[in-house]
Amino acid sequence: MSDKFDVIVIGAGPAGYVAAIRAAQLGLKTACIDAFTGKDGKQALGGTCLNVGCIPSKALLDSSKQFHNLTHNFAVHGITADNAKIDVATFIGRKDKIVKQFTGGIGQLFKANKVTAFYGTGKLLKGNSVEITANDGSKQTISATNVILASGSVPIELPFAKFDNKFIVDNAGALDFPEVPKRLGVIGAGVIGLELGSVWGRLGADVTILEALPDFLSVADADVAKIAAKEFAKQGLKIKLGAKLTKAEIKGNEVALTYEDKDGAHELTVDKLLVAVGRRAYTAGLLADDTGVKLDERGRIVVDEHNHTGVDGVWAIGDAVRGPMLAHKGSEEGVAVAEWIAGKAGHVNFDTIPWVIYTEPEIAWAGKTEKELKDAGIPYKVGTFPFAAIGRAVAMNEAVGQVKMLAHAETDRLLGVHMVGPGVSELIAEAVVTMEFKGSAEDLARIVHAHPTLSEAVHEAALSVDKRAIHKGN
Ligand code: FAD
Ligand code: NAD
Repeated sequence: MSDKFDVIVIGAGPAGYVAAIRAAQLGLKTACIDAFTGKDGKQALGGTCLNVGCIPSKALLDSSKQFHNLTHNFAVHGITADNAKIDVATFIGRKDKIVKQFTGGIGQLFKANKVTAFYGTGKLLKGNSVEITANDGSKQTISATNVILASGSVPIELPFAKFDNKFIVDNAGALDFPEVPKRLGVIGAGVIGLELGSVWGRLGADVTILEALPDFLSVADADVAKIAAKEFAKQGLKIKLGAKLTKAEIKGNEVALTYEDKDGAHELTVDKLLVAVGRRAYTAGLLADDTGVKLDERGRIVVDEHNHTGVDGVWAIGDAVRGPMLAHKGSEEGVAVAEWIAGKAGHVNFDTIPWVIYTEPEIAWAGKTEKELKDAGIPYKVGTFPFAAIGRAVAMNEAVGQVKMLAHAETDRLLGVHMVGPGVSELIAEAVVTMEFKGSAEDLARIVHAHPTLSEAVHEAALSVDKRAIHKGN
């Protein structure tokens, strides 16, 4: 096999493996290098997302939701069960099986598309060759006309709460607890804290989340955050805002925490501590000193709007570069870069990238928040519709939350859609399509939505923008 490729991708997460497959589809001779080792000690393609991120967290969220429904929500349907139990080994084992299925699936996709996979750490050398160091220390060098850097991200570690991955854990540790912790502390009420806090809370852990900022979920629209906070409190998640951790000490089988808020210093003892205070771009060992690829002040690889690093033939995508750290953002960048390399017109629209938080209720949004519109001085109209008035949501016993729609006051163009409620992870796609086609609230209002479905909340919210919702007062 020749060691000269058209494209080498470093990293096989959702950014890198998608870039590799798309490049190969376009007829480019492609290699993809990844260093991730799975639980079985073998190469596991798919990066953070498939191994210790999106997929395993959703598997545990789904299992824990079934248990929580059985123990808390099914009685209203006339369904009760005595002595409902959770077997944590089976719960984790099911997740591991799903991870293996999907990471193995990437290997099959690589074979089907003739992408050559290398197992090891890739280092970009000057002149677009890449040195691969295998686990046993052996090295080989391959080269290409184009190299795509897709090295992803790793959790941020707090200096006073270092991961030991037994008591003080990151996302990977919190996806693998051997038993339900009686008391789980979480630092950071962001996406990981809320999702993984929910998983273990539903199984019976007493969950306390410490969030440094004074506002809850400030990345989301304020109305959505308010509704979500109320629902999480009902579920027993204790979220303490403006709470800064100052000390975390492992003492025997417990972790003793000290944190400060507006009322002073507090102590809290937990059995496990999940630190989820954000992630940072990972570039350790990725770049030889003389490549010319630059990092910004946050350690991210500097790229232009076409994901080009400024070094001839070197591109970077996904969590390792600017923009939201989302799998679908990285994947679309991967597709776009492969298409640019092949001389086609790639494109990623950052204005319509959807966000989804897979809690109960789910949270989803796309486009601008009301605050962003206010701050930018853009005139807007608001339409809302509650799931409490949606027949399907009531029939499901999940009639919580609302759809909120923001449209331009003069043109009616859809500027933002913010949802909290049942099934909104799927409903948000309709908003994204409408915004992508530069549609208006009126467009959505005039589209026939099936009855009874949750999507009627989207329809009614669109009608409500023009004060003509049918099933609520306007
Ligand atoms: P990564 O997935 O991090 O992959 C990078 C890969 O490159 C890794 O396999 C790494 O080992 C490898 N690598 C790094 N350096 C080298 C090197 N020098 N040589 C060889 N290989 C190297 N996003 C969503 O959109 N939806 C979700 O539901 C979601 N849930 C998440 C849940 C959790 C718990 C976490 C932690 C994250 C979640 N994310 C989610 C975020 C998502 O996982 C990331 O945005 C996504 O994985 C980024 O993709 P990437 O390809 O850029 O990097
Ligand atoms: P995050 O940025 O979502 O949340 C981190 C939270 O920690 C913030 O609210 C921040 O204010 C808080 N914080 C920071 N320092 C703190 C400190 N010292 N003490 C207390 N609180 C502190 O980060 P995350 O939850 O670690 O997730 C990382 C990224 O992974 C997310 O931003 C997202 O891009 C991605 N992710 C996405 C999904 C999804 O799409 N459903 C799920 C999980 C993760």
